[in-house]
Amino acid sequence: MGKNRYPKIVVDLKKLRHNIDRALVKCQDQGIEIAGVIKGCSGLPECARQFALAGCRFIASSRLEQLEAVRNYGVQTELMMIRIPMLSEASEVVRLADISLNSDMEVLKALDYHARLRDKTHKVILMADLGDLREGFWSKEELLSAALYVERDLHNLRLAGVGTNLGCYGAIAATPEKLNELVARAELIEAEIGRELEFISGGATSSYLRVLEGNMPRRINLLRIGEGILLARDSQELWGYDMSDMYQDAFTLQAEVIEVRDKPSHPVGEIMFDAFGNRPEYQDRGIRRRALIAIGKVDYGFPDQLIPRDKDLKILGASSDHTILDVQDCGRNYKTGDIIEFDLWYAPLVYATSSPNVDVVYI
Ligand SMILES: *Cc1c(COP(=O)(O)O)cnc(C)c1O
Repeated sequence: MGKNRYPKIVVDLKKLRHNIDRALVKCQDQGIEIAGVIKGCSGLPECARQFALAGCRFIASSRLEQLEAVRNYGVQTELMMIRIPMLSEASEVVRLADISLNSDMEVLKALDYHARLRDKTHKVILMADLGDLREGFWSKEELLSAALYVERDLHNLRLAGVGTNLGCYGAIAATPEKLNELVARAELIEAEIGRELEFISGGATSSYLRVLEGNMPRRINLLRIGEGILLARDSQELWGYDMSDMYQDAFTLQAEVIEVRDKPSHPVGEIMFDAFGNRPEYQDRGIRRRALIAIGKVDYGFPDQLIPRDKDLKILGASSDHTILDVQDCGRNYKTGDIIEFDLWYAPLVYATSSPNVDVVYI
């Protein structure tokens, strides 16, 4: 491939580092450490290195492959596996991760077994499901008995704490009440085992909002933050928080124009199904100037989650490998070979950074 190939993601490392530093300062003020979650940029090791240099307590991902790449890149920070492990990957989890989130007894036993084989102690955080209905022990009794079992019988595991995840599936808000429930469950365990847990991990970006509002329960001391640092977009655009002290444009998607033409805005002929089996509807706005760029749904997933930097430019739609833009109202006279830039929501960032067709460059 040529050197200057498109499409590409441009990562501004200074902006990323600024975002990490801001989150760290705000959390430190409230006695909270951060696990920097890198799955949002598909584990780019250079991004992970920024989290490590800034002083995050852990580098975290849902994918072992990403943790392995980070380790091979020379990052020394402890690694956290945040998707509860598959039974089949227990041995690799112990090999690659220093700590993992867990909610299954069989997996915990397997982790203990493989930790013993490797002569290691593997740290675990037990997850409590507080209503979001993804991973986690459901009742506090179940969580407590799992904790006691790890503490007393699984000698190659270290019960490092408890955690929860909110907002990812059930879209449940990380309210102070929910997080106090987590603290209560932690304290129940502490009373039984006779020691303090090292970590009470109160969630992800959706819990970082409690830090911004200053109403985080005092004993929450670890957050696992990805989106809120990489993009800091959801907190601002969806939840209305002022995130102007962070950059929303640390990542830029660039794509190249491959055709510019005046064409009708309504397809001509009998409308059937598009490339993805949908039967679309089109608005007839007469003849408009359109630009095609060489990037498609395969590379970013959802065209409506790209944000053109040129505010006069509209995304009309996309197929697998093409994106169609209305450039009629743009001040700039686009032509073939021009580069068009986009800001991103979370999903396109994940897709684009994991697409083999999209180059990643750092500035
Ligand atoms: C993805 C994930 C996170 C980070 O989520 P963000 O919204 O990107 O901050 C934290 N914890 C778990 C368990 C996750 O799966």
